[in-house]
Amino acid sequence: MDVRRRQHPAAGERIKAQKLSPTGAGAADSSQALLPPISLCLTNAVFFGVFFSVAYFLLHRWREKIRTSTPLHAVTASETAALVSLVASAVYLLGFFGIASRTSFPDDLSDDEILARDDSRSPGRCPAAIDAAVTVTAPSPPPPRKIIDVAPIQLSIEDEETVNSVVSGSIPSYSLESRLGDCRRAAAIRHEAVQRITGKSLEGLPLEGFDYDSILGQCCEMPIGFVQIPVGVAGPLLLDGKEYTVPMATTEGCLVASTNRGCKAIHASGGASSVLLRDGMTRPPVVRFQTAKRAAQLKFYLEDPLNFDSLSVVFNKSSRFARLQSIQPAIAGKNLYIRFRCSTGDAMGMNMVSKGVQNVLDFLQNDFPDMEVIGISGNFCSDKKAAAVNWIEGRGKSVVCEAIIKEEVVNKVLKTSVEALVELNMLKNLTGSAVAGALGGFNAHASNIVSAIYIATGQDPAQNVESSHCITMMEAVNDGKDLHVSVTMPSVEVGTVGGGTQLASQSACLNLLGVKGASKESPGANARQLATIVAGSVLAGELSLMSAIAAGQLVKSHMKYNRSSRDISKIVS
Ligand code: ADP
Repeated sequence: MDVRRRQHPAAGERIKAQKLSPTGAGAADSSQALLPPISLCLTNAVFFGVFFSVAYFLLHRWREKIRTSTPLHAVTASETAALVSLVASAVYLLGFFGIASRTSFPDDLSDDEILARDDSRSPGRCPAAIDAAVTVTAPSPPPPRKIIDVAPIQLSIEDEETVNSVVSGSIPSYSLESRLGDCRRAAAIRHEAVQRITGKSLEGLPLEGFDYDSILGQCCEMPIGFVQIPVGVAGPLLLDGKEYTVPMATTEGCLVASTNRGCKAIHASGGASSVLLRDGMTRPPVVRFQTAKRAAQLKFYLEDPLNFDSLSVVFNKSSRFARLQSIQPAIAGKNLYIRFRCSTGDAMGMNMVSKGVQNVLDFLQNDFPDMEVIGISGNFCSDKKAAAVNWIEGRGKSVVCEAIIKEEVVNKVLKTSVEALVELNMLKNLTGSAVAGALGGFNAHASNIVSAIYIATGQDPAQNVESSHCITMMEAVNDGKDLHVSVTMPSVEVGTVGGGTQLASQSACLNLLGVKGASKESPGANARQLATIVAGSVLAGELSLMSAIAAGQLVKSHMKYNRSSRDISKIVS
C-alpha cells in the first residue's frame, strides 16, 4: 500500500503552493507532505505492538513446551489466536513497508508527472478518503505500469478512437497518413497502437522533434519515431588544399577520436590529395531468350559502337542529369545481364539509372520482341552485395587518395615508426586479407568511417558493403624516412541530392562539409567532392588505427625484449 502515492493530491497542492511562494516558504511544508498522517501512524503503531506482543507470547509458550517436552503442534486456543494475530500483523507491516517502499515514486519525476500519475490513478478522490482507504484496505498489488514516454504522447479523444481502430485492425496502420492528412498525428497514433498491440513499451524512442512530412513517400514508411545517433566531428581534414570538418554519426567509442588523430597527422604533414578516377552508377537488367544464340545476338548489338549513340539518346531521356557512359553485357546460357553505367549529377543515382534502363528495354523490345524482361536488376550491378565486379570495374565514384606523412609526425602524433607501419600493412591489410580470401577488404577499417559519414550525411548505409571496398597501401619514401599512404576505393556511392540527403539533420551535415544539395557550378561536383572527403577520412582512419595496432606490437615487443627504456604507459596513451 503506497502511502506516498495515495497522498499525492494533497502533496501536489503543497508542491504547487511552494512553487507559487516567492520566498520558498513551502519547503518544509512539502517535506511534511511525504510523511504519513496521524491516523496512519497510530494504525502502524497498533500493528507493531500486536506483532511484537504476540511474537513474545509465542516464543515464551514454545520455550515452555520445549522445557516440559510438550509437542509443539499441540496448540491451545490462545496460541491459535496469537498465531493468527502474528500473521495478520506481519502481512500488514510487510504490505506497508515492503511493497510501499518498492513501488514508491522515483526521485527524478517532476511534480507534473507525479500529479499526472496520481490523478490518473485516483480520479476525484479526496485526501481524507484516501487516508481512510489506507487504514482499512488490505495491501494490493501495484497497478499495471503505465507507459510514460520521454515526451508523453498527448492523444485527443478522436485520436484515441483511431488508436483503438488500428489495434482492432479496422484501420490499416499504413493508411494513417493518407486518412488523417497529418504525418505527425499518424506517427503518434501508430506509436501508441504498436505499444498496445505488442504489449511492449516504446519508452525511449522519441516521437517529437522530427519532421514526419519530410520522409513521406521517400524515406520511411509507417514511422513510429526516430532513432538518435550521436554525431561527432573529426578534423580539420586537409584535403586538396581545403579544410573539412567531417561529421560522423556513430555509437562506436574511439572512432571519431581516432579519425581525428589521423586528420591531425595528415594536416601536420601538409595534407592529402585525391583523384576521382571514375563516376558512374550502374543498373543491370536480366533478360531471357528462347536460345543462347538469340541472347548472343543482343549482346553483339549492345557491344557495337554504332548502336551506342541511339541507345544513349533513349537512355538519357530519363533525366537531364543521366548520361549513359557504357553498356557491359554478360551472358549466362540464354540469359543476358546488361550492366548500364551512367553519370547521375549530384544524385547517388539509383532511381535515375533505373529509369534510363527502363527506357532502353522498352526501345529494345521493338527489335527483339522475343526478349523477355525478367527483372530490371539482375544483380550484375552489384548493389549492396560484395561482388568482384564493383571491386574491379567500380560503381559510383572511384577514388584514390594519398598523403606523405613525415617521419616526425609518425613518431610524435601516431606514436609509431614508418617501418612498423609498412610491415604491419603488408602483413595485415595485404597478406592477412589474402589469407582470409577478402573481396575488396584490403584495409583496416574503412567501413567504420564510411558508415559513420554515410549515416551523418543521409547516404544509403546499406551501400556501405561496396562503398567500403578499399586497398590501403603503405610504403617508406624519401630514403625510408617518411610514409607514403594511400587508399583506393573503387565504389564510393554517394549523392548530395535525393534520398536521405534532404532531411534536416543530414542536410546540416552536408552543409558543414560545403557540399549540400545540387552543385550550382557543375552538376555532380558536390557528390564527387563528397566522395573524395569520404576517401580522405578513410585515409585518416586507416593511419590512426594502423598506428595504434603497430604501437601495441611495439609495446609488447619492448616489454618482451626490453629494448626500450621509454615509459610504456606514455607510448600507449
Ligand atoms: P537517386 O537517383 O539517387 O535515387 P533521386 O532520383 O531521388 O536520386 O534524386 C534525384 C532527383 O534530383 C532527380 O529528380 C533529379 O532531377 C534531381 N536533381 C536536381 N539537381 C540535381 C543534380 N545536380 N544532380 C542530380 N539530380 C538532381
